[in-house]
Amino acid sequence: MTEKRVRVTSRLGLHARAAANLVRVATQFQSKVTLQRLDGEVQADAKSILSILMLAASRGTELRLVAIGADEEQALLSVADLFARGFDETDQTPVAVRTPITTEVHFKGLGVSEGVVTGRVLRLQDGTRDVYRAEIKEADIVRERLRFRAAVTMSRHQLQAIKNRAEKELGKGHAYIFDAHLLFLEDAKLTRDVETYIVKEHANAEWATKVVGDRLLSIYTQINDEYLRERGSDIEDVIQRLLANLTGEGRTYPKLSEDAVIVAQDLLPSTIAELDLNHVKAVATDAGGWTSHMSIIARGLGLTAVVGLRDFYHNTRTGDEIIVDAERGEVILHPTPETVSKYGLDPSRVSRRHAIATGERGPITTKDGVKINVRANVELPAEFDAVQKFGAVGVGLFRSEFLLSKPGLILPEDEQYIVYRELISAAGEEGAIVRLFDIGGEIDRDASDRPERNPALGLRAIRFDLRHKEIMRAQVRAILRAAATGSLSLVIPMVADVSDVRMAKQVIEEEQQQLAANGIEFSPVKVGAMIEVPSAVLTADRIAREVDFFELGTNDLVQYTLAVDRGNNAVSDWFRTLHPAVLFGIQKTLQAAAAEQVPVIVCGEMASTPAYAVLLLGLGAVDLSMTPALIPRIRNTLPHIDTKEARAIVESCLNCATADEVEEIVRVEFRKRWPDLFPLSALPAETSRQ
Ligand code: PEP
Ligand code: MG
Repeated sequence: MTEKRVRVTSRLGLHARAAANLVRVATQFQSKVTLQRLDGEVQADAKSILSILMLAASRGTELRLVAIGADEEQALLSVADLFARGFDETDQTPVAVRTPITTEVHFKGLGVSEGVVTGRVLRLQDGTRDVYRAEIKEADIVRERLRFRAAVTMSRHQLQAIKNRAEKELGKGHAYIFDAHLLFLEDAKLTRDVETYIVKEHANAEWATKVVGDRLLSIYTQINDEYLRERGSDIEDVIQRLLANLTGEGRTYPKLSEDAVIVAQDLLPSTIAELDLNHVKAVATDAGGWTSHMSIIARGLGLTAVVGLRDFYHNTRTGDEIIVDAERGEVILHPTPETVSKYGLDPSRVSRRHAIATGERGPITTKDGVKINVRANVELPAEFDAVQKFGAVGVGLFRSEFLLSKPGLILPEDEQYIVYRELISAAGEEGAIVRLFDIGGEIDRDASDRPERNPALGLRAIRFDLRHKEIMRAQVRAILRAAATGSLSLVIPMVADVSDVRMAKQVIEEEQQQLAANGIEFSPVKVGAMIEVPSAVLTADRIAREVDFFELGTNDLVQYTLAVDRGNNAVSDWFRTLHPAVLFGIQKTLQAAAAEQVPVIVCGEMASTPAYAVLLLGLGAVDLSMTPALIPRIRNTLPHIDTKEARAIVESCLNCATADEVEEIVRVEFRKRWPDLFPLSALPAETSRQ
C-alpha cells in the first residue's frame, strides 16, 4: 500500500471535468486507487466518476490518496502529479454551467390547452414506458429488491449477448460501448442506491430505478468533457433496459401515484396513447407548437399542456414539484408554498378545466342563414364519448395512427375492426371518416424502417402506406368490414397528386374483390383525399374528379406552403396561419371542389379557432371538423356572423402581401364589426407570430 496527501488546487475543485481526468489516469493502472477526505469519512474510488463526484471536494480540500496493487507506486505518482498540475486547467477552463435548480424558477412556453395543474415531474424519454410510484409494504420489500436484482441479471445477460454479437459482426473495436454499459450496470452506485431507495422509501423498483437514474443523469449533464458526457446517454440506455426488464414481468400496481406531470423533450403521440391517462395530470415539453400532434391530442383529452419550453427537460428531475399553467403558457419548477397558495391549488387534486357542453346539436346557422356543419376530430377511443357530448355532426376525422399502442406496433385487423365499429356508434348516424395511417413525419419515427433525413418530406402518410401494403391492406379490410355495420368513409392522407389517389383506390378495390371472393361481409366506402400539400392544392381540380370528398388539413398546409416545421419551436415565428399564401391555397381548393361539386371538410386547427373559422366561412367553407371540446366556442361565434361580411374581410386579406398585414386587417375589421364577440385577446396579437 502506498499513500500520499494531496490538496485540491484547481479553481473549481474536483468537479466533473477534473474527475473525468482523474478517471482517465487512474484506469491506466491495475492498482486500486482511492481518495479519502481528511475532514471526514467519505472516500471514493478513483476509477468511478460517480464516486469521485460524490466527494464534493472543492478547492482547498485535503485528500489522502491510497494505491494498492502491483503498480501502486506508478499509479500514485501519476495521480498525485495530476493534482499538482491543477488538473491541467487554466482559468479559462469552461465550467459546467448547469447545476440542478432547487429554488422556484419560471419557464416560458406555449400553452396549447386549458387549465392550471400542480403535481410532480415524471421525466419521460421518447419510447419510455410510464413509471409510477407505488407503495411497497414492509413485508414485500425483500421481494422487491429481488425483483430488481433479477432485472439487473437479465439486463446483464442481454448486454453480454449483444456485446458478443457486436464483436463477431463489427469487431472488438465497436463492441467496447457495451463494456461501458455492463460497467454501469455493475456499478454499485447505481444498484446499491436503487436498493437503498426501495428500502428507505418503500418504493417499487421501477420508481426507485427512475429516481436514481435521473440523479445520476443530472450529474452527467454537468460534465464538460464531451466523451464523458456522452456516457450520460449510455446510462440512460441502461436505465431504460432495466425499466423494460422490470415492467416486462407484467406486474401491475393497483395503487398508483396520481400526480404525474409528464416532462419530456419531445413526446411522440404514440407515447401519449400508451400512458395511463387517468394518472397523468399535465404535460410539459421542450419541443412542440400549437399544431403538433401532441398538442392536438392534449386538447382532445382536456389535458393541461405547455409546449415549446426549449431547455426545460434538463432542468428537471423526476419527483420535482411543478405547476403547469397552460393559461399563461408557463411552468413553475419548485414553487414556493406562497406561489402554490397564490394559485389556490390543492396539490392533491387534478384541476383540469373541462369545456362545458352547451347541449346544442347539429349544424350551426349563420346570421344570414348559411348552414355550417361542425364535426369532431378524434384521435383516441378515450375521446369517443365527447362526440355526442359536444353535439358534433359525426366524426370528420379519425386520426387512426394513434391506435398504435406502442411505437411501430400496428393493431391487428380484427382489433382495428372492433375500434372502427365503436367509432361508428360514437359518431351516430352522421357517420365517421377514418384516415388511413398517417405514419411517418413526427408521428411515429420507429414505425419507419430507419431514421429519415427529412421525415416531413419523407415516407409519411400515403407514401408509407403504399410502401407497406400489408399494413395498408389490413386497415382497408377492417374499414370495409366495419362499414357494413354503419356509416364509415375513408380519407387518404397527404396526397401529392392524382396518382397517389389512384394507387390507393386500386388497393381498396382489390381488397373489396378479395372480401367478396371470400364471402366476408363488407360495404363499399366513400373515398376522400386530404388536401394539405401545395401540389395537391395546385391540382385540386383534377383530384376532385377522382374522389368523393376533400378534407383540408390546414396544419400541414401551413407547414408545407411556408416550409416551416410545425413542431419546431425554433421556427415558430414563421408558422403563420394567416399568411396570404395559405389563404390562397384554401380558396383555390374550395373553388376547385365546388366546380366539381365535391364537399370539403376543413379539419386543421384553424377550424376550431373562432376568428380563423370566420375567415374560413368568408373563403367559402361550410363544413368544419375540430376537437369536440372546442365546438362550443365555435357554436357561440358563428350564429352572429354574416358570411357576406366575412367574405368582404377575406377579399381585403387576399390582397395583402404579408401575414402581418392580414392580421392587422383581422384585428381592425373584427373589432369594428363584432366588438362583443372578439375582444382583443381572441384576435391575433400584434407581437404574436403564431
Ligand atoms: C392537418 O394537417 O391539418 C390535419 C388535419 O392533419 P394532421 O394535423 O393530423 O396532420
Ligand atoms: Mg395533416
